[in-house]
Amino acid sequence: MNNFSYIKAENTDQAISELDGDIRNKIIAGGTNINDLLRYFITKADKLVDINPFLEHNTVICLDNGGIRLGALCTNADTAYHPIIEERYPLLSKAILAGASAQIRNMATNAGNLMQRTRCYYFYDIHTPCNKRDPGSGCSAISGYNRIHAILGQSENCIAVFPSDMCVALAALDAVINIEGPDGKKVLNFADFHRLPNQTPHIDNNLLHGEVITSIDLPENGFPKNYSYLKLRDRSSYSFALVSVATAFDIENNTITEARIALGGVSHKPWRIREAEEFLIKKEPNSQNFAQAADIILKGARGYEHNAFKIELAKRAIIRNCIMALHPESQRTGAKPSL
Ligand SMILES: Cc1cc2nc3c(=O)[nH]c(=O)nc-3n(C[C@H](O)[C@H](O)[C@H](O)COP(=O)(O)OP(=O)(O)OC[C@H]3O[C@@H](n4cnc5c(N)ncnc54)[C@H](O)[C@@H]3O)c2cc1C
Ligand code: SF4
Repeated sequence: MNNFSYIKAENTDQAISELDGDIRNKIIAGGTNINDLLRYFITKADKLVDINPFLEHNTVICLDNGGIRLGALCTNADTAYHPIIEERYPLLSKAILAGASAQIRNMATNAGNLMQRTRCYYFYDIHTPCNKRDPGSGCSAISGYNRIHAILGQSENCIAVFPSDMCVALAALDAVINIEGPDGKKVLNFADFHRLPNQTPHIDNNLLHGEVITSIDLPENGFPKNYSYLKLRDRSSYSFALVSVATAFDIENNTITEARIALGGVSHKPWRIREAEEFLIKKEPNSQNFAQAADIILKGARGYEHNAFKIELAKRAIIRNCIMALHPESQRTGAKPSL
């Protein structure tokens, strides 16, 4: 049993003061991840700072620039079913609803989703070496059972993947993250939030100790006409992605004018390669062009004993999901898209 104190913070300033920039003091929001981490002794806390009373971070609001702001404490369920998200950002809604279970989505918050930790089996087994849990101890997955692990962006220190669905859509949609900390407010582009493992796999993202995520902003364009989220997994529900793809297009006169493709389940962060998106601009939306984009995205991919299949799986998933994005109606009706 780890003893810790529990504080209910009334506002962001109090939370920052209670966190005191100290790694041993931790935020609890929905508790769906941090409770497990504490119970299994994967993480330790001297103090848990409960930020749930922050009603100002519990909403979805429209911004003057045409975009929207998702409250950090808004639940995944409230976000996915919000009328503005369903209508203007259906890619995000679909990605959130592909994750976890209805019960978990009712508790899980948006900021908590960004901050959730990997599902690497060895990370959760405190009797095995793991550089992410215990820096310098080694990586059990590289020569172990690595079916769910990374094929892109990994290092010799860690091949874990970031498990979120929501974040794959946020990456594709060019979200930005609003943060407050002891040094004031700051904003991080989504692409700069999560980190690759490199030499420091124990650091998942660029949020500093003592900082609080207050909200996530989305730009005006939510690609409501041509979008799709595809999640491939071992079970059809309540399972993390082996590979997932978020795709969004703007298309005029059968020509792509804007393209977004982000992958989940393949790397330590949502994987987005601008070169592939630029390749598709001014091109016809067809499977030949999508296959070339997939090759660009998977360039340099490396598999291990149990997960090499993910490279081909990811390529096929990209092509299929790009085709599905041309027919978003077929996703709602269950009809099979064809090209
Ligand atoms: C069985 C199961 C299945 C799941 N399946 C999926 C899935 O398929 N896809 C998917 O995407 N997710 C899945 N999840 C993960 C789930 O979405 C996350 O656990 C959840 O989003 C975390 O949110 P929370 O509010 O509960 O976070 P908490 O558990 O409260 O906190 C998680 C982390 O976030 C930090 N944190 C929380 N809020 C803030 C803030 N405002 N500022 C800074 N730090 C903060 C906490 O300190 C902690 O480190 C699953 C979870 C479970 C338990
Ligand atoms: S892949 Fe990363 S999280 Fe998994 S055992 Fe290796 S170091 Fe730990």
